Amino acid sequence: MKQLVILGATGSIGCSTLSVVAAHPDKFQVLALTAATAVDKLFEQCLAVKPRYAAMQDSKAAAELKFRLQQAGLTTEVLSGTAGLTALAAHQDADIVMAAIVGAAGLLPTLAAVEAGKKVLLANKEALVMSGGLFMAKVAQHGATLLPIDSEHNAIFQCLPPALQQAASQGQLAEHGISRLLLTGSGGPFLTRPLDSFAAITPAEAVAHPNWSMGQKISVDSATMMNKGLEFIEARWLFNCAPQDIQVVIHPQSIIHSMVQYSDGSVLAQLGQPDMRTPIAHALAYPQRISSPVPALDFSKLAAFTFTEPEPARYPNLYLAIDACAAGQGATTALNAANEEAVAAFLQGQLAFNRISEVNQHCLAEFAHYDAQCLDAILAVDQQSRAFARALIGKF
Ligand code: NAD
Ligand code: MG
Repeated sequence: MKQLVILGATGSIGCSTLSVVAAHPDKFQVLALTAATAVDKLFEQCLAVKPRYAAMQDSKAAAELKFRLQQAGLTTEVLSGTAGLTALAAHQDADIVMAAIVGAAGLLPTLAAVEAGKKVLLANKEALVMSGGLFMAKVAQHGATLLPIDSEHNAIFQCLPPALQQAASQGQLAEHGISRLLLTGSGGPFLTRPLDSFAAITPAEAVAHPNWSMGQKISVDSATMMNKGLEFIEARWLFNCAPQDIQVVIHPQSIIHSMVQYSDGSVLAQLGQPDMRTPIAHALAYPQRISSPVPALDFSKLAAFTFTEPEPARYPNLYLAIDACAAGQGATTALNAANEEAVAAFLQGQLAFNRISEVNQHCLAEFAHYDAQCLDAILAVDQQSRAFARALIGKF
């Protein structure tokens, strides 16, 4: 029986994780659930799985949760703040930590799980984008097992030879006959929308993804393709490769989740429904396989698969992220921070959709050459880029 901690339990990935776990009560027990402020949802989840611990980032929300759990007769211990989240991520009884907080807020709890040598299931791509080299060095130093949840990276991982899967970030793709990683993306809801109407895009339109049901931030990132840009940087670290080893391919059907191209001309792909419970089940059970509640693919009902290149004018954020990946850690940390601020402002109606990339571009130009090797420097660049982005948003 594996003991599981879910960071970001109330979100889209958190709920999908609980759905997979519910089908395997003999294999997984939930040790702890965490969330930011969503008391009602976390309370409901606690009633269902009766974890030993729960934690909320917000202390008022934690106090309310504690009161309600006691009233309901549950003995769940409630912690709060970043200290509470990191304590649970590193808890001595935890075997597996699902890192599913959104954004930079997930960095410290995810690093705590890595430093405790846990099996870490990484959904929180922003944590890796902002701290890449440091993050991967800690994985190696503390003997943590890092498994990708992002569907593309999980697909690539599944298409790697077993020796490379085991070598984690230390392996060399070329030594295993791999010439390229092909990162697929749907192109989001605005793949064919006229470019001259982008300024009028509303938050409701941007979060309505054609294939995937996800949290708000990643949905907007999918619409701008910043999500694919963050995934490009994520792939660079997870698979120890250079930017020229990765190619982004638009595949609007979202059935092929990514591919690995070998030097003999073979291409291995992982296919499945656009449902995160498949990569979650894969990583939870790895190296075994368990069932998931995802319906099997029915090839008699699949339409044609198509592939195109992403247009730079449609997806400037993707190309900013590829530039940042080549520039280094200060650049990717600054870009991630700027993007979080710009997306939040867009969702609050304070920034036009087409201005998100403008904010990102200015922050990238300002901070690209900053040093961000140690944690303090990373957090400093993150804060400075956010402040710069907020000032820009105020002027727009
Ligand atoms: P979401 O917004 O649905 O959920 C986010 C979770 O994080 C919630 O539980 C929330 O309470 C918690 N949280 C938010 N801010 C926090 C803070 N400051 N401190 C502590 N906890 C906080 O997001 P999601 O769609 O589930 O995505 C989670 C992560 O997984 C993101 O990094 C996203 O990029 C990645 N991801 C998601 C999907 C998907 O299908 N949803 C796919 C691939 C990767
Ligand atoms: Mg993805």
